[in-house]
Amino acid sequence: MDIFKGESIVSFFDRFKSDADCLCYLADRKASMGYSCLKCGHTKYTVRKKNLARDCNKCHHLESPTAGTLFHKVKFGLRKAFGMVFEMSATTKSISANQMSTRYEVRYVTAWLFMQKVRKAMKSSGKDPMEGDVIVDEFVFGGREALKQGRSTDSKKKKIVAAVQKDDTGIKRVYFKPIEDYSSSSLRVIFDAHISQHARVKTDKWTGYKPLKKEYNISQTKSDKGRTFFEMNTIVHQLKAWMRSNFSNIHKHHIQAYLDEFSYRINRSIHKQTIFDNLISSMVKHKNLTYSDIIISN
Ligand SMILES: [Zn+2]
Repeated sequence: MDIFKGESIVSFFDRFKSDADCLCYLADRKASMGYSCLKCGHTKYTVRKKNLARDCNKCHHLESPTAGTLFHKVKFGLRKAFGMVFEMSATTKSISANQMSTRYEVRYVTAWLFMQKVRKAMKSSGKDPMEGDVIVDEFVFGGREALKQGRSTDSKKKKIVAAVQKDDTGIKRVYFKPIEDYSSSSLRVIFDAHISQHARVKTDKWTGYKPLKKEYNISQTKSDKGRTFFEMNTIVHQLKAWMRSNFSNIHKHHIQAYLDEFSYRINRSIHKQTIFDNLISSMVKHKNLTYSDIIISN
């Protein structure tokens, strides 16, 4: 089966006309990832024509294309679910759960929960750390002065550390981590998760970065809000605008998921045609999450 490479909502609904079309796409994605029976581990199966379930040749355990994936027990129909994934991956800014709820005729909570699942699949594996030129900086979000730059101590504001990898053509990748404070041990989280020890990292003069110089190649320069931090400021501005227009009050347990969604689209913006398929595949690979998994995890 050809992977879907369309970028418009028209081409999307042209390709996925029914829940059955989507089920078929999921079955195909699952098939490409190999098979091992969930009950007995046998590696051969027969596909049931009626519902595309995989029937283990040894113990006859049946596995539907959605079983054990992030599409597990989607009750509002796979076509709507695929539509939401498309909006979150292929459109530049995505939309809020409120808008999604109206657009796809599902309850707000249903839209919100499913979107949280999609965000889990957008999370970076961390296996491909940033190399080359990387800028690291912190900013605050929320509270009254959403646009204020710098290290605020207002407890209502969410503190975030950001890393931006750039090259001659501009921004290549971005990652974000919520932090409790501006200490070295808080700041290092983004280094350990996403930055190679060989990357040329630039930060401002904040003392919290100094101890990290033992392990990372960091040069500290005056934060002039000018050329050095231009890409960083651009990205932070975009992120804040997106968050402000779509999400009014994000609980701190969930902020990483929204940051992951924003990063996912930026980091794959040069692969626009495959972004939807990539996300569907990640959702098939990702194990099923329950309501409580979503509510308590971060
Ligand atoms: Zn079996």
